[in-house]
Parts: sequence; C-alpha cells; structure tokens
Amino acid sequence: MWRIWRWTHWTVWRICILFALSLTCVSFILRYNHSMPTHLENRALSFVDLEDVAQYGIDSLSTAEQRENLNSTELIRNSYICPSRPKRLTGKLNVQGIFSEHTWAEIIEKNADISEGGRYAPPDCIARNRVAIIIPLRNRDSQLRVLLSHMHPIWKRQDIQYRVFVITQNGNGIFNRAKLLNAGVAEARRDAIYDCYVFHDVDLLLEDDRCLYWCHEPNPRLVASLVDKFSYVPLSYRAKCRIVEQGNDLFEKTMRSILWGPVITYFGGVSMITAAQFDEVNGLSNLYWGWGGEDDDLFLRLSALGYEVDNPYGQKCSFRMIRHDHESANAENEGRHALLRHASKRMQNEGYNTLRYKVESYKEERLYTNITVDVGHPSKYMTDFISKAAEAWFKCFIEVPWRTSH
Ligand code: UDP
Ligand code: MN
Repeated sequence: MWRIWRWTHWTVWRICILFALSLTCVSFILRYNHSMPTHLENRALSFVDLEDVAQYGIDSLSTAEQRENLNSTELIRNSYICPSRPKRLTGKLNVQGIFSEHTWAEIIEKNADISEGGRYAPPDCIARNRVAIIIPLRNRDSQLRVLLSHMHPIWKRQDIQYRVFVITQNGNGIFNRAKLLNAGVAEARRDAIYDCYVFHDVDLLLEDDRCLYWCHEPNPRLVASLVDKFSYVPLSYRAKCRIVEQGNDLFEKTMRSILWGPVITYFGGVSMITAAQFDEVNGLSNLYWGWGGEDDDLFLRLSALGYEVDNPYGQKCSFRMIRHDHESANAENEGRHALLRHASKRMQNEGYNTLRYKVESYKEERLYTNITVDVGHPSKYMTDFISKAAEAWFKCFIEVPWRTSH
C-alpha cells in the first residue's frame, strides 16, 4: 500500500515538473520568435507608435522608406526611445535660493539648448511624451522668469519633448483662466501633435525632479498634489451646493478615502490631461470669470465620465508657491458653487466647442511662445451673478442661463 502511494506521489510530481518545464519552453519560444506586429506594416512614419519601436526595435519598421525616414530624423541619433527612467534626474531639489533674480539673458544662456519659442526635444533619444505646457498669465512676468529658470532644466532632465505656450490675457478685464487654457490647447493643436497638455500656474515650483511631467493612462494626473502654501496637505474639492448630476459621488469618494487612503478630488495648480481626455470632456468651461471654480468644474467633468485623478509619483510631486496677492481683476467668483452644481450637464454643450477668443499677438521668445489673446468679457447678467456676495445656499437655487452668458 505504502509503495503504491509513493509511486503515485512521485508520478504526480514528475508530471508537474514536466508541465512547468514545457510551459517555460513555450513562453521562451513565443518571446524570442515573435514576428513584427502586422499593425505596424505600411503605416506612415508619423503614426509609428513609439512603444512599438521600443518593444520591437527599429528593425520592426516594415518598409525601407519608414526606416530611412526614421534614421534621417535629426532627433534620432541612436534610434532609441528614451529610457523609462530618465538617467539625469537628481531627486530632491533645493528651491530655497531660486527666488533670487536672474535676468532673462542669464537664463537663456544657461538654456542654450532650448530652441526659439521654448521648444525642446532630447538630443539622443526619442521622447516618450510630447507635451504642450500651457501657462495662463497676466502681469506676472517676474514669476514667469523664476518658473522657467527653475523648470526648463528639470523638463530637460525628464526627457520630454515639449513646448512652452504662455497664454496672456490682454487688457484689464476680469481674468478667465479656463478660457486661456482652452485657447492654449487650440494654439498647441495648430502647432503640432501633442500627446498631453499640462495646465501650469505660473507660481508653482517643483521640489523633486522625479515627479515626471509624463502622461499616464488611464487617468488624468494631478501634478501639484502637495503645495507648501497649504502645508503639503492634499487639497480637495468641497461642494457648497449639491451636485445635481449623476456620476459625482463625492460621498462614495470620501468613504473610499477613509477606508483605503486619499482619493484625489482636486485638479488645479498643475495638472495633466491627454488630448483624448480633453476632447471627451469638451475642454474646460468658459463661464468661470474671476478666481475659482474652473478647476473643480474640470474635475467634475472628468469624474462624470468615470475618470479618477491619479498621482503616480506620490509625495515626490511637491511644490513651492511663489507668494503673491490676489489681483483685483481676478476677484473671487461668488457664483462658482452654483455654476458647479450643473457642471456635467453643461459639459457637451459648453466648453472647447463654444470657445471664442482672438489672438492679438504671437511671439516666439527664446524660452517660450507668448500668445496674447482677447477672451472677451462676461455678460451683464453673469457679472452681477458672480460679483454679488449672496449666501451660497441662496445662489444654489438659481440656474445660470449659461447659453447667453459667454
Ligand atoms: N494669473 C495671472 N495673473 C492674474 C491672475 C492669475 O497670471 O492676474 C494666473 C497665474 O498663472 C496664476 C494662476 O492664474 O498662477 C492662478 O491664479 P492665482 O495664483 O491667483 O490663484 P491661486 O491658485 O494662487 O489661488
Ligand atoms: Mn497662485
């Protein structure tokens, strides 16, 4: 009896070992004997997926023409996609001393490898991300100087291919950050294909270059997740009026963050979104004149479509904010909570597809492209609505006639 048991026991073991060995063999064969994926064949170079080139090598490009094109591209000296971890990162940065004034000439000299218009591409590899960095601006030129002096070297070390678009609002009318960002996307699209857009406040300085300005799937990213001004406590969106539409279950998110750790409910400061995601939510709402609300509206649009906001680099994404006062032409929008109430209902009818602006001037500076735009002004009704300080609960019951408001 004992012998029969032992025999069965060993036979079972032998079968298992044989099975494991054959599995390993098959996986090796599959791994090293792959052929070129058929979807790469006959594709124009501009649509060659960099991930495919990285995975299958440059030889996987099917036609001689494709290979020739790729080799002759100035960008590709070694014909390699940039490593998934950039090699020149330095880690934590000292942001203390950088407020000292550098002149534009000094900054330009230190960044001689940035091309006219604030363009850059890594010299020795193909960037994984083509990023349009969009900065809304008015009367903060000294902050722009500090920002670019600090960030250009970081972006270069991060191996991204990028261009800096500064979108300046003309005149002294009420500020509209969201319209400037929408206009930034429109201008970037006119320029080239970008994989993702960064919406970048001018006063936020990154404290660790391992927080990469790279797009990530499947969700949009909050880059400035911890800011010194807010004691590095994660910010959250707080609705003062009940959010009417479906898909914004903040209660569920709150419960989840209690149970499983923080869930990001904020999308301001520095945030990143892919071109496809931007189109899905129809960009930003143009209705937020003055300070506040436009970033929460974008958050609500995204979350209505089931997106979460990610922060793949965790604590490394910390920022210092250059201290400033609030401008009188960017006064707090007192009607923002009421507007937010129906954020996702308006999404497909108001946003990028209803954007109107006029380019006043277009200038390629050495470290950025400055586009000065006229974004118009709010209607009389809207001006009254957003400037009158009424109790939030009272405004919550008024629906803004947004079709005539911009
Ligand atoms: N901004 C600007 N000029 C203004 C108002 C705002 O350039 O008069 C831009 C600038 O990029 C700034 C962003 O809009 O970082 C957000 O405004 P602000 O910094 O006042 O808001 P905060 O996030 O500090 O409350
Ligand atoms: Mn600020």
